[in-house]
Amino acid sequence: MESDGSTFEREGDGMIPTTFNYFRPHSIEEALLLLRQGEAAKILAGGQSLIPMMKLRVAEPKTLIDLQGVPELAHVTWAGGHCTVGSLTSHATLAADADLRQKAGALWDAANGLGDPQVRNLGTIGGACAHADPSGDYPAVMLALDACFIVAGEKTREVAAAEFFKGTFETALGAGEILTKITFDAAPRSAYVKLEHAASHYALVGVAVVLVMSRDTIEDARIAITGLADVPFRASGVERSLRGVKGNNVAAIKSACAGAAAGQDVRGDIQASSAYRTAMADIVAARAVRVATDPR
Ligand SMILES: Cc1cc2nc3c(=O)[nH]c(=O)nc-3n(C[C@H](O)[C@H](O)[C@H](O)COP(=O)(O)OP(=O)(O)OC[C@H]3O[C@@H](n4cnc5c(N)ncnc54)[C@H](O)[C@@H]3O)c2cc1C
Repeated sequence: MESDGSTFEREGDGMIPTTFNYFRPHSIEEALLLLRQGEAAKILAGGQSLIPMMKLRVAEPKTLIDLQGVPELAHVTWAGGHCTVGSLTSHATLAADADLRQKAGALWDAANGLGDPQVRNLGTIGGACAHADPSGDYPAVMLALDACFIVAGEKTREVAAAEFFKGTFETALGAGEILTKITFDAAPRSAYVKLEHAASHYALVGVAVVLVMSRDTIEDARIAITGLADVPFRASGVERSLRGVKGNNVAAIKSACAGAAAGQDVRGDIQASSAYRTAMADIVAARAVRVATDPR
């Protein structure tokens, strides 16, 4: 194991993390062992969320286990109509994947609109999902795709997206577990559209849509929304209202998307009021449905 256990020791505060040990295992098994044995151990993937949190000392892990030495975790594989994405796959890899654009446009859209080039090159889908930011893009996409999370630990287990996101920065992952893969079925009529914060590109409101269409008519829909609540949620009223609507009937789509945030305790903060987010959810949902109705 090329895990040198280097110790990074620095004093003082002001954007400088506290001391930690660093390991770079070469297999999932080694990583799991280190995670179990390391003091206050945490997985490091792209570092785009964890490192800023360590600099601010919001997170103070004593042991970092860097997954970049386990390249088998970075892949996008299609088998028939089923996709498996390794947790270490970068946003940039997903954003450049032409196959993904055609077969699961919602994920491709999210990867392309996420952050800036540095974040897309270094950040990973697994890190973004494990981080579970309430304004993150992928949680809504995962919910709309009805994705399944493959989690390695003492046992390997599968967690449905609907069970994975538990709260703000909280998931179903246990302390000794690693997210290894995400699987979902092809969704050729899908899209993700967000109204983003101008500086960070995080979603003020983000809507992921997966449609089942018969010719030009919507037969079924899964609509998931991020940015409004602690966890992404399905807009089940909108899903019902969209059934039977023609894909080119913009007025009917707008009408079906009214009240997208119904029943939610919508967040308001310095970036956008609760009323603004609520109003914009209807508009962003209608846009996302329109994009999803056309094949890529
Ligand atoms: C400037 C900036 C702009 C951004 N804009 C956006 C945006 O527009 N939309 C958006 O959605 N996100 C945005 N992000 C966040 C971005 O998506 C990060 O890449 C992501 O949140 C974390 O991924 P990472 O691979 O860097 O994970 P890390 O930072 O390495 O880890 C994040 C957390 O996940 C855990 N973790 C990582 N991988 C695993 C795993 N495989 N198994 C178990 N636990 C794991 C870590 O222990 C840590 O707790 C932005 C970030 C920055 C810095």
